[in-house]
Amino acid sequence: MGTEFLNIKDSVDAKNLIQEYFNKYYEPEGEEIPIEDSNGRVVFEDIYAKIDFPPFDRALKDGFAIKSEDSFGASEENPKVLKVIDALEAGSYSKKTVENGLAVEISTGSPLPEGADSVLMFEYSLKNGDEVELYTSVTPTQDVGKKGSDVKEGNLLIKKGTVLSASKIGVLAAQGFTTVKVYKKPNISIISTGNELTELGEELKPSKIYDVNSYMIKNAAESIGASGTIKGIVKDDYNQLKSKILECLEEYDILICSGGTSAGVGDVLKHVLDEIGEVKLHGIAVQPGKPTILGVIGEKLVIGLPGNPVSSLVIFNVFVAPAIRSLLGLKESSLKKVEGKLTKRIHSAIGREQYQLVKYDDGKVEPIFKDSGAIFSLARADGYVNVSKNTELVEEGEIVEVNLFN
Ligand code: AMP
Ligand code: MG
Repeated sequence: MGTEFLNIKDSVDAKNLIQEYFNKYYEPEGEEIPIEDSNGRVVFEDIYAKIDFPPFDRALKDGFAIKSEDSFGASEENPKVLKVIDALEAGSYSKKTVENGLAVEISTGSPLPEGADSVLMFEYSLKNGDEVELYTSVTPTQDVGKKGSDVKEGNLLIKKGTVLSASKIGVLAAQGFTTVKVYKKPNISIISTGNELTELGEELKPSKIYDVNSYMIKNAAESIGASGTIKGIVKDDYNQLKSKILECLEEYDILICSGGTSAGVGDVLKHVLDEIGEVKLHGIAVQPGKPTILGVIGEKLVIGLPGNPVSSLVIFNVFVAPAIRSLLGLKESSLKKVEGKLTKRIHSAIGREQYQLVKYDDGKVEPIFKDSGAIFSLARADGYVNVSKNTELVEEGEIVEVNLFN
């Protein structure tokens, strides 16, 4: 059951096409989740402050709440003396009013009593029974955090599209939010196809290899914020693949398969998609990763990645991840980019884009020359360099941009 790559697209067209179909069939959705589970999630709508923070004028130091004018002129030699009328701990407030000549002992975080306009630090005072000597002067509002000085009710607190992290979750807690509306994770099912594939944990028989892609793609999907579920290995068998695809699409939004996407005997994915859906893309002019498929079944997308682990990871990162990230309100790539100097020249073929695996170390970029089926190049690779389709040679010593996997 051979077939041809009838209409190979170049990388830009392929990328646009994949994005177009994501836009057509999926829409970002929001869900409300507890803030303690929101690390790494993306905020779905602008969040505004519910309350002023601090919620009241409060002391920023331990000391005495006073009228600042009562301290004017105070010094070591010439202290001013005030009467202490109350003592406050954090979490309590005074019912008394600070008039001229009076002070309230206060600790950091406590509300400033009525009448007081400043806090004089303990270090510049000496308490003696119900009196306190002040050895320095303070200015109005000194060591007072004014109500709403940090955030005012109604201020924009966190923008839509922000990725939540510990500090931002802290801000939500300060505002009393128990839940936060975030982008729902796209729900991806993952299958690997190939008669030679063996489940981890099972004995490796002659001519068999372990399934790599399921684990790699699940984790690549999760590292961009999606949820990935491994649905197992399927043989290169038309009926088995067809029923597995239908089963996955019942439950999940997106299906990512790998293997069996070429134009050879036993490459059945395209035929299955032709029957139960429609193939929108078969073949991209890139190296590695030419045998890539995009199919539509009903209102859902099926992506067929090449079986070679290196190819499947690179194609996922370059073509699929940006589309998935758009459903999460995120910018195109999560891969960090660094620049470095090439230690060996890279040859490439005109007419196709090449993704060259490289090791990156302290500004040095070393190409890893292995065929795309070589797994251990992945263990050494820190990322890849993108060689455009119009470039035949990148010379040793040239400064190149590396897309880092981590
Ligand atoms: P295919 O795309 O099915 O022609 O596979 C290309 C190469 O990738 C073959 O050497 C396969 O054995 C290998 N391969 C396919 N799927 C996987 C997988 N899930 N894990 C590891 N290697 C794979
Ligand atoms: Mg195969």
